[in-house]
Order: sequence, then structure tokens, then C-alpha cells
Amino acid sequence: MSKLQKFTTSAGRRIYTFPVQSFPNLINNIYVISDDDHLILVDTGSGIEQANQELLAGFDALAETYDPHIQLANLTHILITHGHIDHFGGLPLVRQFSDAPIGVHVLDRRVLSNYEERTIFAARRLDIFLERAGVSAVHRNNLMEMYKFAKNFYRSTPVQFCLKEETPTAADIHVYHVPGHCPGQVCLQVDDILLTADHVLSYTTPHQAPEIITNNMGLEHYLASLTKIERLDGIRLGLGGHEEAMTDVAGRIRAIKQSHQDRLNKVLDICRQPKTTADISRELFGTVESYHVLLALEEAGAHVEYLYQRGELSAANLDEIEHQTHPVVKYRRA
Ligand SMILES: [Zn+2]
Ligand SMILES: [Zn+2]
Repeated sequence: MSKLQKFTTSAGRRIYTFPVQSFPNLINNIYVISDDDHLILVDTGSGIEQANQELLAGFDALAETYDPHIQLANLTHILITHGHIDHFGGLPLVRQFSDAPIGVHVLDRRVLSNYEERTIFAARRLDIFLERAGVSAVHRNNLMEMYKFAKNFYRSTPVQFCLKEETPTAADIHVYHVPGHCPGQVCLQVDDILLTADHVLSYTTPHQAPEIITNNMGLEHYLASLTKIERLDGIRLGLGGHEEAMTDVAGRIRAIKQSHQDRLNKVLDICRQPKTTADISRELFGTVESYHVLLALEEAGAHVEYLYQRGELSAANLDEIEHQTHPVVKYRRA
């Protein structure tokens, strides 16, 4: 395997990483933190066949290249940075080789441990969001089928402990809770290296969805969480859940904030005329295909919700909203 990388922290701890193909267009970074007493896996890939094969191959390659002790069977902890399937879907595979305790933030715990139930609830809320956004019934049905299909790989796996900001994990890894991209999103600080997970990525502005679908997501939470990490001192390197290492995490955060500001301004501009969230999504992202339709609607919805919460957008069709059972909301600049 050619894409192994090794980083050494200021205290001499090793962080190894390799990529796995989680979905046809998505590559995830797997991290392994090693010191004299601990061997910690951070995230697992999606659990689809290819990702699982690459996870096993990556461990073999680390053992061969760096240290024969790096084996799934020798893990002391398994940490999940947040409750998205591309990060925790490989847990059932890892469980076949390791009894190490699994830790995740409490707000994402039930996603891992009560997956089937949580998926049904999340799907209901997503459907309501799509209906209010002005997506037609036929189109909505297609999107919901796609949503449920993408969630079909995983089986609930019990979680043994919760990652808490106040208490470092056993291995002296500092946890920062940074809700927004996901309710239980965490960044993990290992000495002078920060595992930023999907909170900060090197190229992509991490995906946002409105809080109307899932509590503790939404742009308000996300931007506050960016500021929290931007203020940290002593971070020499950021390692994301996808993409490349970052030597200037604070600079990257400023760029991500700016891109949201630009997008918010665009939404305000679009809403000079009354628009549905579906209209706004089309104007922001043009014509997109398959799963990207859903991502675009969620992204647009997160920005609309943020502006509406702050009184910068108002509803343009109050009468319909008051009297119809399933109204589509139209927004205009307040
Ligand atoms: Zn994510
Ligand atoms: Zn991800």
C-alpha cells in the first residue's frame, strides 16, 4: 500500500494514516494513534466491502512497514469522530477482531447503537423538511429511497463509553465537542496535532444540514464550533477525516467561514423574489444528480434556516402556511 503516512507529535506519539474508499466518490482517512501503552483506532470507513478490505489491508501494511504491534487485535480503544456512516460503518468488521471499548460523543451514541430506530426517525424529519422545501411528492419519494438505501449496510453496535470534553480519554487525548456538521462531532487533540474529522477539511467546505432535520446541526452551531477551534493555541498540524493534512488550521477555518458568508449573501440576493428552499438550492448549485440533490437541498436549507432564525429572511406566503396542512414555505428578504 503506497499511501501510508506517519506523523510524530511533540511528545513523540505516532499517528499513522491511510485512505479507504468509502463510497464511489468518497475517500476516508483512517487514523491509528500509538504510544507505549495505547493503540487507538480513529474511525473505521463505511463498512462496504471495498472499504472493509482496504481497512484490513491498511493495518497489514502498517504492521509490515512500521511496527508489527499494529494489529486490530491489539487495539486499546476505538474512537468514532461523529455519527456519519463513512466514519463508523466499519465497526461490525472491527468488532470481529477487537474487544476494545468504542467511544463516541453522547449526542451521536444512539446513531451507532440504535441505528435502525434512529434511521426511521431521521427519515421522517427529512421527509418533512423536503416537503416544506417544495420538493414534489414523486421526487421526494426517489430521494427518500436513496437515503434509505445508503443506510442499509450497518447493524447497530453497542458503545462502551462517551467522549467528553471535560475529561480527557484514558490515553490523554483532549476532546473538543464541535456540533454543526454532526450533533456529536468532535475534534481530538493529540499533543500538537489536531484530528479535525469532518469539522475542518483541507479543500471542501464540510456539508451542512438544517436543524429542522437533526437537532444540534445547523449553521449557527457550526460557525460557533469553528470559532472554538480557531482560538486553540499550539496546533501545528490538522488531520481531517477526508483530504489532506493542514499546516494552518486557523487559516483554513477563516476560509471556510468566508465561503459560508458568501453563500449567505447569495441566498439573500436570490430571495429578492419569494423562493422555496428547492428554488434556492437550484440557483445555488445548478442541476446536480442522484445523492447530490439531497446534499444540495440540505446545504441550501441550512443557510435559509440560519438567515430565517436571524430575521434576515421572512415567510412570503403566511396565509398558506397558516391554513394548509402541508404548506411549502416561500422566503423573501426581510
Ligand atoms: Zn461527516
Ligand atoms: Zn465524512
